[in-house]
Amino acid sequence: MREDKLERTLELTTSILSMRDLNALMRKIVDSVTDDFGFEGCDLFLLDEGKNEYVLMTTQGFPQSITDRVEGYSKSIRTVKDQLSEAERVGRFTYLYKSKPGENGSNYYSVLHPERAKLPRAQEDDWHELDVLYVTFEDPEGNIIGFMEPDGPRSGKLPSPSLVTNLEIFASLASIAIFNASTVEELGSSVKKLKAMLATTAVLQQPGDLRTTLQTIAEKLFDFVPFDEISVYVTDWDKNLLVPVYATGQYADEIMADIGPMTGLAGTVARSGNVEIVKNSDEDDRVEDIPGLEDIEEGSTIMAIPLKGKSGVAEGVLELYRDPNRRFTHEEYELAEPFATHAAIALENAKLRDELQENLESVQKAYEEMKGLDKMKDSLVDTISHEIRTPLTTIFGYVEMASVGMYGDIPPKMKEKFDTMLLQVRRVNQLVSAMLELSRLQNEDLKLELEPVNVAMVTREVLRDLEHEVANNKHIVTVLFGNSLPIVQADRLRIHDVVENLLSNAVKYTNPGGKIDIGADIVDGKLHCWVKDNGIGIPAEDQKRIFDRFFIAESGLTRADNRVGIGLHISREMVRRHGGEMWFESRKGVGSTFHFTIPLKPGSARKETAIINSKANRTRPH
Ligand code: ADP
Repeated sequence: MREDKLERTLELTTSILSMRDLNALMRKIVDSVTDDFGFEGCDLFLLDEGKNEYVLMTTQGFPQSITDRVEGYSKSIRTVKDQLSEAERVGRFTYLYKSKPGENGSNYYSVLHPERAKLPRAQEDDWHELDVLYVTFEDPEGNIIGFMEPDGPRSGKLPSPSLVTNLEIFASLASIAIFNASTVEELGSSVKKLKAMLATTAVLQQPGDLRTTLQTIAEKLFDFVPFDEISVYVTDWDKNLLVPVYATGQYADEIMADIGPMTGLAGTVARSGNVEIVKNSDEDDRVEDIPGLEDIEEGSTIMAIPLKGKSGVAEGVLELYRDPNRRFTHEEYELAEPFATHAAIALENAKLRDELQENLESVQKAYEEMKGLDKMKDSLVDTISHEIRTPLTTIFGYVEMASVGMYGDIPPKMKEKFDTMLLQVRRVNQLVSAMLELSRLQNEDLKLELEPVNVAMVTREVLRDLEHEVANNKHIVTVLFGNSLPIVQADRLRIHDVVENLLSNAVKYTNPGGKIDIGADIVDGKLHCWVKDNGIGIPAEDQKRIFDRFFIAESGLTRADNRVGIGLHISREMVRRHGGEMWFESRKGVGSTFHFTIPLKPGSARKETAIINSKANRTRPH
């Protein structure tokens, strides 16, 4: 290219502006410098922000031996600053260092023609072997993100003003191209990393086993930090052990079998909580007894990362192995760290899962035992109830006959005793019947004997049975319906029990002289009955449990007052089996109202239960 061909420069720069692959772009830049700007060689450095150094990225035109020797060569920011300040600034981007007579030619800059290094400059505008031309690249803020060093102009002359102009244009556009391509590259690697992290996060959320999870994490980690082998150990702080949970490579099985004390490299890392990078396993005493390692002739470079859980304590240790020529770096640790965090979470999750499983098993065992006990209790209740019932009926019969004088006259004092005995026997009988009913309910072998029932009549019968108690308590009982109510298909005896339970409760839990009302109406195709008292009421905190088996609410009374806590449970169950529902409203110290419904037509139950329920919910305690 002729130096003054601005057009060609523009052509070149436009072609590089669209390049997104940083490596290709850098090669293209050095190629252009040698092919189009007339230099024999060129190298290009870029700033590595992590290292704070300018690293040699690519060279062109130098002998292969030199290229090999300078691979990975870098200059500190300070050195570059010094070199640029020693040079003359001939443009915004271009600096020229003109060597001085007698300067040492053995340095890096005499690589093209070392034999000329000692020769003096023949003419003022001649290029000398030790001259250096710098062309910098800048980011939009004017920071130097890299530079190139075009070397050995083919013209043999120092760059003319027009060449400098072209270099300036080229450098300004190359700066933009490099900045864009590096940004794209950075974005690309961030996206790649994010994707890998997402993939490992996703695997953490699946209920997979620990091995599979660690395997996925290892595979993703490999893309960022290549390794030959990996192993993961879990720390058992109680037993002071390191337990291998994942390993790859030829010796994986041996490693997995190698549960050992918390010593050596992994032990150190677990205790300190700090990452360790071992240059060569052969030269580090802490590396001990890792199966397979002793067989590798040149040793291994090892990176051991603590896997810290939420508490900050190491749940485990992750070790990466690689041949010692490719030593692990701190930058690689930074790349590996998020993966290690994920591995730590995986270990914690696995631990939690194990604990949960253990708890579940013991709960299950306890539950099974309880079920067994419950069954035993039920069959016991069943047997005892049956066994007691027969003699009880006999006793009842004899006592009753005796009390009415069938076996001869009895004095009034004796009669009183007999009556108390009868009352007690009746109570025991009731209790036994309730127990039997309960066990029948549990065994699901209860059958309803349906017949047309007039609940009004049933209520009268119950009241007759309770006459005594009502009179003793001076309760004012009002029945708000006549002698007939709509007929329901029901099991007469069971409905009798239900009404009796509600009424006897009303009597039991209402102070002497209290009021008890019994009412009925038709709601949604069902007969709705209620028993209202102005008794002691039920404390709000007990209301939820009132229908539970054997539940007795807080009250002034004791169990000795004939309280068992199964009447309501059985009654509600009975009503439900008829297709009805039972509910109540109550307020402590004010009174209670218990309701139940029975469908007028059997079979129409299900649908309407819901309505009654919602009605029950709507009804506020009075
Ligand atoms: P029991 O009356 O044999 O204890 P229930 O199952 O019939 O058993 O009743 C359970 C509990 O509900 C009673 O112990 C009592 O605390 C409470 N209860 C039932 N009915 C009433 C009522 N009308 N007034 C106040 N409390 C009641």
